[in-house]
Amino acid sequence: MKREEVGSTGHAEWHRVKLRLKHEFGESAYKSWVNPIEFSGVDGGAVNLKVSTRFMRDWVLTHYADRIRALWSGENPDVRRVLVDVDVPSEVKPCGGEPSEKSVPAQHVLVGNTNAAGGDVLADSLSAPLDARYTFDNFVVGKPNEFAYAAAQRVADSNQASFNPLFLYGGVGLGKTHLMHAIAWQIRLRSPQRRVVYLSAEKFMYSFVRALRSHDTVSFKEQFRSADVLMIDDVQFISGKNSTQEEFFHTFNALVDQGRQIVLSADKSPSDLEEIGDRLRSRLSSGLVADLHPTTFELRLGILDAKAEQLAVAVPQKVKEFLAHRITSNVRELEGALIRLSANVQLVGGTISLELAHTLLHDLLRAHDRRVTMDEIQKRVVEHFQIRLSDMSSARRSRTVARPRQIAMYLSKQLTSRSLPEIGRAFGGRDHTTVIHAVRKVEELMKGDVAFAEDVDLLTRMLEN
Ligand code: ADP
Ligand code: MG
Repeated sequence: MKREEVGSTGHAEWHRVKLRLKHEFGESAYKSWVNPIEFSGVDGGAVNLKVSTRFMRDWVLTHYADRIRALWSGENPDVRRVLVDVDVPSEVKPCGGEPSEKSVPAQHVLVGNTNAAGGDVLADSLSAPLDARYTFDNFVVGKPNEFAYAAAQRVADSNQASFNPLFLYGGVGLGKTHLMHAIAWQIRLRSPQRRVVYLSAEKFMYSFVRALRSHDTVSFKEQFRSADVLMIDDVQFISGKNSTQEEFFHTFNALVDQGRQIVLSADKSPSDLEEIGDRLRSRLSSGLVADLHPTTFELRLGILDAKAEQLAVAVPQKVKEFLAHRITSNVRELEGALIRLSANVQLVGGTISLELAHTLLHDLLRAHDRRVTMDEIQKRVVEHFQIRLSDMSSARRSRTVARPRQIAMYLSKQLTSRSLPEIGRAFGGRDHTTVIHAVRKVEELMKGDVAFAEDVDLLTRMLEN
């Protein structure tokens, strides 16, 4: 574990903190952002971390530093701060050399040079794998998504860039990724010579960071610019960071100027992507913007019909209707419910019935009534701010406990269907007007204080996931 003389203590803590981060943020975020962080010691209440670029530093500071601090002070209460420095990783640094003159280790070089290696290989190594089930044939069309579907088909079927960019947006689990894969499959099928690059915005940013780190932005650019069709999923994640936005903007312009097709998806329309600069925003809206609306009962029924057929299971109409009524927010969950029912029938025997749906999908159905409990909220908040659970219901009014308590009340209002008096009772028998006050206060603080708002957002995301 021990890599350096300096700060040889704390490695075990860092190891555990990293494990927690992996768990909370997921494998891919972990690999891209957390794992490359170098730990260099704990000193006078500060955890010292090193990253290799300024971009990485900004990213880690805005997205992970708070959580690292909270987790670390759980390990060691003396820790109050997290410092992130920019430094070339120690194993890369040539003796006494300036970072800009450093020799680049092999694993940081993006594979070879575009012309010599051939664009194909490079473009494909950039592209994420496509899910075989996400085809146009498997996409059920209804009123809420017919426009997006038609636009996607048009783009997939034309040999030149048609609507450029095609910008698909809609809530979680409404089929954005499905449609993007469908476009990619269709183009690969119809014109195998066209290079299709599909990747998530996060991966795009990570590739960019790697290129920066290895001073190889030229081949980074070439790789992307050799794509005939560039598809970037979840572009809402390209936000805030000027250098990546800038790079994305240039790549984008270069491709459009060469008549290449661009397809993007996001959870919001370009005009609602707050953290994206005006120039890029207007560029994003310059093609065709198509949204996937929330599903209707009819569409959900249609999807259930199609999936039941694919799974080759008999699902009584009553059960389909029940599911379509009860699982409304997200097609992925609807699908999950059906898969669970059919797996049960295959493994245990019997037939799919309303009773079976009730018993088997108990958690899913309940989760839909109330996704998060107030207990979970209180636990999370307490953990995040390193206070005691009893402080949630105590009469103490000092800011260090009162603020987290208000946040927990706010989250209870937002994430559960509990009434104000019920929330008040769960927080030491407080009056419902106290809850109202807490909600307002948190809303007000979120507007005025970015760091505070990020804290609350992070908690929300962790509770919702
Ligand atoms: P998003 O990217 O918008 O969050 P996905 O494309 O990942 O959503 O869709 C979630 C799941 O729901 C996928 O398994 C997808 O195949 C399925 N799905 C969503 N919409 C439809 C639809 N209209 N027809 C068939 N399957 C759908
Ligand atoms: Mg998606």
